[in-house]
Amino acid sequence: MLARYDRAMQSRPGRPAAAGRASRTGSRTAPSAVTPDRLDLPIRQVLPELGGGLSTLERLGIRTPRQALLYLPFRYDDFSDLRHLADLNPGQKQSSRVRVDDIKSEPGFGRRPPRTIAQLSDSTGTAEAIWFGRRFIERRLGPGDEIVVSGKVTAQGWRMQFANPEFSPASRESVHTARVVPVYSLTAGVTIRRVRELLARILDRCLPAVVDPLRPGERVGLLDLAVAIRTAHFPDNMEDLLPALDRLAFDELLTLQLTLAQASAARSERQAPRIEVSGDVLARIISELPFELTEDQVQAVDEVTADLGSDLPMRRLLQGDVGSGKTVVAAIALVAACRAGWQGALMAPTEILARQHHGSLEPLLTGLGVRSAFLSGSLRPADKRAIQQALGTGALDVVVGTHAVISEAVTFERLGLAVVDEQHRFGVAQRAALQAKAGALEPHMLALTATPIPRTLALTVYGDLAISTLRMSPPGRQPIRTEIRDRAALPKIEAFLGDEVQAGRQAFVVVPLITESEALTAASAEAEAERLTAALPGVRVGLVHGQQPSPAREATMQRVADGEVDVLVATTVIEVGIDIPNATVMLIEDAERFGLAQLHQLRGRVGRGAHRSYCILLSDATDEVARRRLDVVKGSTDGFAIAEADLQLRGAGNVLGTRQSGLPPLRVASLFDPRHLKLAARARTLARALVAEDPQLAGRTELVREQRAFSPPDASGDAA
Ligand code: ADP
Ligand code: MG
Repeated sequence: MLARYDRAMQSRPGRPAAAGRASRTGSRTAPSAVTPDRLDLPIRQVLPELGGGLSTLERLGIRTPRQALLYLPFRYDDFSDLRHLADLNPGQKQSSRVRVDDIKSEPGFGRRPPRTIAQLSDSTGTAEAIWFGRRFIERRLGPGDEIVVSGKVTAQGWRMQFANPEFSPASRESVHTARVVPVYSLTAGVTIRRVRELLARILDRCLPAVVDPLRPGERVGLLDLAVAIRTAHFPDNMEDLLPALDRLAFDELLTLQLTLAQASAARSERQAPRIEVSGDVLARIISELPFELTEDQVQAVDEVTADLGSDLPMRRLLQGDVGSGKTVVAAIALVAACRAGWQGALMAPTEILARQHHGSLEPLLTGLGVRSAFLSGSLRPADKRAIQQALGTGALDVVVGTHAVISEAVTFERLGLAVVDEQHRFGVAQRAALQAKAGALEPHMLALTATPIPRTLALTVYGDLAISTLRMSPPGRQPIRTEIRDRAALPKIEAFLGDEVQAGRQAFVVVPLITESEALTAASAEAEAERLTAALPGVRVGLVHGQQPSPAREATMQRVADGEVDVLVATTVIEVGIDIPNATVMLIEDAERFGLAQLHQLRGRVGRGAHRSYCILLSDATDEVARRRLDVVKGSTDGFAIAEADLQLRGAGNVLGTRQSGLPPLRVASLFDPRHLKLAARARTLARALVAEDPQLAGRTELVREQRAFSPPDASGDAA
């Protein structure tokens, strides 16, 4: 049925625009049937009869028939409400079967685009259709044509008008009118009608070749795949859509889970050193700390040391709010590994952060007889070489540094544990490089992150990553007072900043995030720094933003740490765990533009010392949702609760950032949708069972084909 698209429209005799088209779409010989194994071949080769359509597909990035089948609409227009002209309702999307009585175009004037107006009638009345800037329509339609029009109805006085409607000849069923019509994302030079018609043809030719990769027992309660694909493109009604998209979401999630399960199976083949940590050694280390561990820290230490004792390489994420004491847990693990005869590495995303870590760890390490050094790209070459050499011979136990630690020149004698702070800032490639440092035995890896990830989500996106969580903060933390203010309050806020600086404190001012452009964000930071310098005489204002070279940025951060900058104007580059105990004010401008988890992170930059601290969320936003979001941050200090709320309000992609998760973005499935989260759990169970039985999925050709189609080759995942 779908093949009966609107060829008649394109080949009306005597209309020049259409004349060339018939020959391009027409094909004389009946094309051979598409078989399942051909769905992944170049589409040019499988469906040569698409002719000029092939270059359209190319422009959309579609290379194989299967990719075309999975090129899904991003929304639908429901034009299934077919009515007589007398029964049209303004404000609704409706369709009518009509006769064109008259059609004429008017040229545009000045800014007004040219318009084409058609007078329409049926047995019950008359109406009109109007198109803006589409003069070719006059060549396609003429008086006497019987057509179906579909579009939004508006009332022009007493007359009903279809604005920019779709239309098709009444003599045949169409993919454009009087039904639920798919809307696809387009690119330059590609029209929606063209894409719809092409996909309808491809579906007709290829759907019979789609073999459901799931066995009947595996797809209970799910739609058949071919039916789901057809429905996702051309649903008969909106109600059919949900089960179809669920089925496709399931397959996408299964694909992801298969990739994760295979990576974890591959990992179980590799060997890590067995690092035995005795209770005595642990007790000795802990007794050196100037404080008692929290219950959560104790548990995390237990989990980590248990992992270290196994020859399965540890992949553990330690998550906890800023200030929850993750570093201490990592330090204990590092010392324990060294005591057991292995080397350790701790890496941080920036030099200043790495230096801070080294500064705070060194007393503990030295006290326990662990030899450590700081390594970064900025050291003198001779110093660097000496440290690299000492690591190679085993004369050093622990290295703390930036990613210079994993530069090629560094080799370890016996690396047993690698800790990565703020792990999401490290690329997949860097983590792989670290693994490669290991030689025959792979080091255990512990990643620290202050971006709390709701558990359901973490399982889904990280698959086999084990997770330890620090929920409670160490005792004695000063609560941060959070307030929401509008711009009118700025002079008062500035006066307050001035007072805090007078009292010897420091402050952060975070400028609005301009999502379109880093350069614009940087420019607004510069302007804000100038404004504050003028407004607060005698106050030393510093500036950091992402467009500065990183040595300049680090130098400024160092001046902040040394107390030489009073007020630091910054973009979100300061989000990462810098510790300035003397900072007491965090002012965030246009706060509604930030994610909640991000606001919470930023707030965590203050309240780290003995002084009372404040977080001011500046916002002129008046809409309900924006206010509610800011209230969540004001009302809660629990990073996990805030992350959950953020997840509800913005979706998973934004909580994690696709960059951070290192996984291909999901196209159909939404981790924001509780139904899909359930499907994800089911997909995970199935994937693990399948991979346990047959790691290469050798007996499941169709699953492997689908897996490839869902995951682009360059994003095969950072699973293990
Ligand atoms: P995170 O890296 O999770 O943000 P840190 O490990 O840097 O947090 O710890 C923040 C501060 O809290 C540090 O100064 C640390 O010494 C201190 N701290 C950590 N654990 C405890 C504890 N159990 N009791 C008291 N203070 C602690
Ligand atoms: Mg930290």
